Amino acid sequence: MLDKVHDIIVIGGGLAGLTSANLLSRSGLDVVLIEKKEHPFHRVCGEYVSNEVRPFLEKNGLYPEDLGPADINKLQLSSVSGSNVFVDLALGGFGISRYSFDQFLAQKATGSGCKIVVGIAENIIKKNDVFETKLQNGDTIYSKLAIGSFGKNSQLDRNLNRSLTSKNPTYLAVKYHIRADLPENVIALHNFSGGYCGVSRIENGLYNLCYLTETRNLIDSGDINQLEEDILYQNPLLKRIFQQSERVFERPLTISKITFSKKDLVSKNVLMCGDAAGMIVPLCGNGMAMAIHSAKILSELIVKNLEGNRFDSVTIHDDYCKQWKSNFSVRLSIGRKLQYFFGKKLMSEIAVRLLKTPFAESIINLTHGNIV
Ligand SMILES: Cc1cc2nc3c(=O)[nH]c(=O)nc-3n(C[C@H](O)[C@H](O)[C@H](O)COP(=O)(O)OP(=O)(O)OC[C@H]3O[C@@H](n4cnc5c(N)ncnc54)[C@H](O)[C@@H]3O)c2cc1C
Repeated sequence: MLDKVHDIIVIGGGLAGLTSANLLSRSGLDVVLIEKKEHPFHRVCGEYVSNEVRPFLEKNGLYPEDLGPADINKLQLSSVSGSNVFVDLALGGFGISRYSFDQFLAQKATGSGCKIVVGIAENIIKKNDVFETKLQNGDTIYSKLAIGSFGKNSQLDRNLNRSLTSKNPTYLAVKYHIRADLPENVIALHNFSGGYCGVSRIENGLYNLCYLTETRNLIDSGDINQLEEDILYQNPLLKRIFQQSERVFERPLTISKITFSKKDLVSKNVLMCGDAAGMIVPLCGNGMAMAIHSAKILSELIVKNLEGNRFDSVTIHDDYCKQWKSNFSVRLSIGRKLQYFFGKKLMSEIAVRLLKTPFAESIINLTHGNIV
């Protein structure tokens, strides 16, 4: 005899999982979300959210207005040598820490009836139309549908036999929150050899400083402080920010083994959402917007294809793949190509010059989607 079969299990409580959990539980569905860590917690992320999802968040009471997000409407791009340009961002975005934003969405989801379980999902299989999710603590959760929103790199990818290998280099990312005397409305992207660093305002007068670098840079330098002094400081604008700012965290937050390889949208009948479906390079500044948007597409299809107490899984799979591809495929591939301009002396100089031409807005728009 099975324990209770829930309508939906959502694995991973980042922006994709939390947005899905909110929309689905509000529609009256019985949703369980499994997250490895207890909210709130810090994550490595640039924490700049493109305004393409702001109307959707506002309409659904999911925009964190009361947390004081920063309004950002300008981009500063600097080359490895420090030459730079400021460009207006037609759409712009808002800055908010993931610590606060994810916690805000988790509380909203719980308030709508979603059950959040802190635990690690180790495996998931579909047997006789029911998904069985095994947790590391030995529990099993049963559900009619399963959403995989477990981010860019999870042990669950291996357990579901998803191949995430890539011939391209892997990246390391480092994040700080800092106090600094910087413009409030600017997201800066500073190049350095083998990587780039984003700096932008979040809530409470703080700034996020987050950089992505090829793993070989760390191997060559030995440790993070040395890496910053040897490589990031070669860009004079970055050197000034590092030297004139105060760090809020005692130690930086880091993640490694980041790749931007293509992924399956559905693996073993689990519907993938957010970075688990495909990750855009961070320099585009819209991975979070894509995570939210993909969750919206998927949740709406799930609600639409509920027949009595059954889901029409085939239609959900097919329509989700079509809509996901039409919304995100081109952006992902443009993002991968743009990545080649970054972290290189000459190419970053060319990128700065391109943004000084009348084509600047069109280039930026290529990486962004329509307003949701
Ligand atoms: C360096 C860097 C900077 C970035 N900067 C920006 C930016 O400024 N703007 C922007 O829009 N995007 C940015 N991004 C991208 C953005 O962070 C992601 O696109 C976004 O977080 C994706 O959300 P998600 O919900 O898919 O995944 P995540 O937010 O990664 O959430 C996945 C969750 O799943 C949980 N999980 C994983 N495995 C399991 C398991 N087995 N069981 C239970 N839980 C599990 C994890 O703990 C995690 O909480 C950046 C990315 C990087 C690497």
